[in-house]
Amino acid sequence: MARKSPLAERLEEIRGRIATACEKAKRSPSEVTLVAVTKTAAPEQIREILQLGVTDLGESRVQVLQQRAPQINEFFHRRQPIGDTAPPKLRWHMIGHLQRNKIKAVLPLVAMVHSVDSLRLAEDLDEHSRRVNRVLPVLLQVNASEESQKHGVAVGAALHLAEQIATMPNLQLMGLMAMAPHGGSEKQVRAIFSRTRELLEEMQWHKISGPSLKHLSMGMSDDFEWAIAEGATIVRVGSSLFGHEESGLESADKA
Ligand SMILES: *Cc1c(COP(=O)(O)O)cnc(C)c1O
Repeated sequence: MARKSPLAERLEEIRGRIATACEKAKRSPSEVTLVAVTKTAAPEQIREILQLGVTDLGESRVQVLQQRAPQINEFFHRRQPIGDTAPPKLRWHMIGHLQRNKIKAVLPLVAMVHSVDSLRLAEDLDEHSRRVNRVLPVLLQVNASEESQKHGVAVGAALHLAEQIATMPNLQLMGLMAMAPHGGSEKQVRAIFSRTRELLEEMQWHKISGPSLKHLSMGMSDDFEWAIAEGATIVRVGSSLFGHEESGLESADKA
């Protein structure tokens, strides 16, 4: 058999660690979606990971998303077998801070926005989704560490904002997103993830939104196993798949 590429090996390792973390937490690996974060990926690495079966990609920068998504999507669709009645879908996740003036550009490209953290952003997303006759799946980004982080709604304000989003006809509130501070101890990081899970449970108890309110997007390269232990359903892994070097815009690749 041909030798596996480094990326294939890293993907297999990450999938293995996800499976082990699920087993320890007595959860099924089918409950956890791996989003491959393309922030540090070269375009050919993105194409390769799609060929390895990953169908969820995450990007935090609007400009890069705009440049890359159309080409990557075309590549993905070109290699679907003809006549396949239910081909897999490629889903882009917007995981970074979203400015309201970028909504129009981002909306046609993304399957889910993880970073809704204000009423005004939610209202504008709802309005733009209405104009294109779409119901957009979103997550509420929570600042569960309540320190130093620029983005995310404060824990104390999250329930009320979730109630407001749940009334918006063109948004579907799917759950919460949280980030732990870089380099935190297991105890600190797990406390942040567990606070986020408790917040989701509180929202479910209050019957905010319907049964689709069940997702926890938490866990990155350094902490996804702890996140799975605390109930993550979506993990966003970048550098341990693609390396640490931040990749530039496509124009730099062409130069
Ligand atoms: C970059 C990024 C990730 C991936 O982080 P890694 O440590 O590279 O795995 C996940 N989520 C968000 C919001 C990011 O910006």
